[in-house]
Amino acid sequence: MIETIGVIGAGQMGSGIAQTIAGSGMKVMVADVDLARAEAAVAGIDKALGKLVGKGKLEIAEAQATLSRISAVADYAPMADADLIIEAATEKEEIKKAIFEKAGGVLSQGAIMASNTSSIPITRMANYSPDPARFIGLHFFNPVPVMKLIEVIPGLATASETTDRIVAFAEGLGKEVVLSQDEPGFVVNRILLPMINEAVFVLGQSTANIEDIDKGCRLGLNHPMGPLQLADFVGLDTCLDIIMVLHKTTRDAKYRPAPLLVKYVEAGWLGRKTGKGFYDYSGDVPVPTR
Ligand code: NAD
Repeated sequence: MIETIGVIGAGQMGSGIAQTIAGSGMKVMVADVDLARAEAAVAGIDKALGKLVGKGKLEIAEAQATLSRISAVADYAPMADADLIIEAATEKEEIKKAIFEKAGGVLSQGAIMASNTSSIPITRMANYSPDPARFIGLHFFNPVPVMKLIEVIPGLATASETTDRIVAFAEGLGKEVVLSQDEPGFVVNRILLPMINEAVFVLGQSTANIEDIDKGCRLGLNHPMGPLQLADFVGLDTCLDIIMVLHKTTRDAKYRPAPLLVKYVEAGWLGRKTGKGFYDYSGDVPVPTR
């Protein structure tokens, strides 16, 4: 049974993952680069739960109980008690490698290590953990408390028992599971990221402005939000990291990053998490930045 979980990397995904798991009645420990960042994430979850209470979507007692199951930790030592450790740190392989090697030192016998990576090969990262048979991809979608889907990605060495336990865990969170082979971008991002990247090319070539590109996809494709707005939700740095992994691993020129995407990331305009990306979020209504 998976009852206690460690989450490493408490940005938008790690926070959403911790909130969702605690909301399902399990205990979560949250770690980031330092205790202050982990505590800030817990404070952010408190705020998010408060908003749900305010909207009448959650009982106050349930919000308090959820929060009481989440603790910020300064290092990985307490995660020796975890049945599952989920890595949700920045999409950079060297960062994840260091986390798996360090967290591997406390991973208990029988516990599973999972990565929320969007694109980095699971089979390769499994080698950074103590037991590749107990390593797996567990890919949540943003915002985690809302999005129904989880992709489960076994690597070449992942034991079928590990996959079965993780599928049961994901379903226990009230999510739907799609199984993917360990191929670049898995299923959804393999389809989504070329679309976002192409939308940035369309913008860079001044074929249409930001609002019309998004409007075109909303009304013409029946998507709930346009690709540039969605890119702001994902984080433009994360989008660039993913498309670069696709480009590097496949060597296929169709995945070359749009120069304008690189420029936005270099400007530090990373989307909603920094308050500005393809849209500026400082006012009441998002305003296009081009
Ligand atoms: P984010 O930038 O919001 O958060 C990343 C967090 O990792 C930050 O809090 C950062 O301080 C922390 N971190 C960096 N180095 C660390 C280290 N050495 N140890 C511990 N923590 C460290 O990014 P995010 O959007 O939450 O993405 C995190 C992961 O989830 C990435 O692998 C990304 O590809 C994946 N993902 C993102 C989305 C999305 O829509 N944003 C969706 C699915 C999966």
